[in-house]
Amino acid sequence: MYFSKAFIPTLKEAPSDLDNISAKLMARSGMTRKLGSGLFELLPLGLKTLMNVMKIIREEMESIDGQEVRLPLLLPKDLWIETGRWDVYGKELFRLKDRKDAEFCLAPTHEEAITDLVRSHVRSYRQLPIMLYQFGIKFRDEIRPRFGVMRAREFLMKDAYSFHIDEADLEKYYKRVYEAYERICQRCGFKYRVVEAASGAIGGNFSHEFMVLADTGEEEIAWCNCGYGANSEKAECLQTEKIDLSPMLATEEVLTPNIGSVEDVASFLSSTKEKFIKTMIYVADGKPTAVLVRGDHDVNEIKLQTLLGCNELELASPNIIEEVTGAKVGFAGPVNLKKQIKIYADFSVPNISNAVIGANKDDKHIKNINYGRDYKADIVADLKKVSKGDICPRCKKEKLQFSRGIEIGHVFKLGTKYSKSMKATYLDAQGKENLMVMGCYGIGVTRILAATIEQSYDENGIVWPFSLAPYKVSIIPVDFKNQEIKEVAEKIYNELKENKIEVLLDDRDERIGIKFKDADLMGTPFRITIGEKNLKDGNVEFKARKDDKSKTEIIKVTNIVGYIKSKIQEKFK
Ligand code: ATP
Ligand code: MG
Repeated sequence: MYFSKAFIPTLKEAPSDLDNISAKLMARSGMTRKLGSGLFELLPLGLKTLMNVMKIIREEMESIDGQEVRLPLLLPKDLWIETGRWDVYGKELFRLKDRKDAEFCLAPTHEEAITDLVRSHVRSYRQLPIMLYQFGIKFRDEIRPRFGVMRAREFLMKDAYSFHIDEADLEKYYKRVYEAYERICQRCGFKYRVVEAASGAIGGNFSHEFMVLADTGEEEIAWCNCGYGANSEKAECLQTEKIDLSPMLATEEVLTPNIGSVEDVASFLSSTKEKFIKTMIYVADGKPTAVLVRGDHDVNEIKLQTLLGCNELELASPNIIEEVTGAKVGFAGPVNLKKQIKIYADFSVPNISNAVIGANKDDKHIKNINYGRDYKADIVADLKKVSKGDICPRCKKEKLQFSRGIEIGHVFKLGTKYSKSMKATYLDAQGKENLMVMGCYGIGVTRILAATIEQSYDENGIVWPFSLAPYKVSIIPVDFKNQEIKEVAEKIYNELKENKIEVLLDDRDERIGIKFKDADLMGTPFRITIGEKNLKDGNVEFKARKDDKSKTEIIKVTNIVGYIKSKIQEKFK
């Protein structure tokens, strides 16, 4: 491609409403444009890069016997009623009606549609296993669309679904998908970590997330040298041993005027956060519920939701808190609640002796509260967010470490969740009807573009890994009007094209500095500069994007394409 003919609208400054590095660099390099909140256009450079990602994913999906399909984006409500997800999915689902008032949704995912397809054609165990995948647009009305294409409302996902005769066959196949995902991460050049995404309450490693490591990532990963890794939102916590053996003291109500926060009450009472029981009032599917955690801990709402088995979970409003506790916000406690509600406590709570709690009275706390003597919980479970200093739940020896990451893929053993509600069955060798066992496997294809950049950029712009770069080589003639330079530039250009190496020839009538800036901004891995001085000796200048500014090499015109080919081979050794 000649730059003068290409639609690559590079920008000096990123639009001010873009909120992270990758979104800014994608806009500045002319890959994307924001159309509205969570809505992005992919321009030719962006789409070219996306196609490179898709090629890698497609090859890996074919390598594990996946077959590509394309399903509608507009899905009838009936299918979603069958699985119950029409009601469960909540506000993230875009819902709409057609001219006859029939209801639809814009697909946020395709389990319903794919199960409907497979149940209508697959009858016998002989037709299983089967894996179907697609590159499909997904729509999700995210609460907070942000970080460019990373958390958009419309994005491209590769979603794959496999159907098996039993759990054992799914298990075997799941491993193959897991390995294919690892190869995808490697081929995209990621530093990554695979983490368990199963919540502690459910247990088991039936779901894994593929996390690209980046300090700017939305997710926090808890991991250990023993090999354990989990999304810290979901990481299990060990049940703490009782360590505080102090004798129980008599309870005492204390005045804490307008001091509601754990920190302030602790310092007011010359105590510590560890001595405090935080009582949080939640509303789970409409029912108020009290949740107790230690003062220095936070409630893990995912664990709580799993334990409660509820669809909607939110912190109670000040009005409800007052109704339940009889006090204003900040003074809730497990003793003498005004309304009888269920109390759930984290493992570490009963271990706190002579604890401080809110008194369920305005401006009052109670000291020296002890589990069993003064209060009890209906259920004691793992309910806290993992935190610094916690011991690894797997090896039970080392302290957990924490890193930030971007979730780019998610593999999931679904079991019979969908085949049961949608009656997707097959006949086994004995003619008996059985439920199909399913797996599903997603990758955020557009998110991969942003994740790659978050992991690989410098002050001049994007630094694409070779495999994803939209153009592998930029040819920069110092002056394209100079006949000799033009001829050499076009000769190298044609030779690279014959070798199927994507190349951008910067034929624009621009200053050399601007051409360099744009090539760097776009992250092109190799740059060839053609100027009069070097050409006198039959040479051009070569530079790799990754190398520092000063590191250039002088290469013979006759050798440059061979040199680039050898560099490419080096990368794929
Ligand atoms: P998240 O926790 O980030 O919201 P999710 O659990 O909702 O992700 P899945 O339903 O497992 O995501 O979707 C599969 C993949 O699709 C994710 O791993 C992610 O890479 C991508 N993805 C999910 N939501 C978005 C979005 N709003 N914008 C872009 N990509 C997304
Ligand atoms: Mg989500």
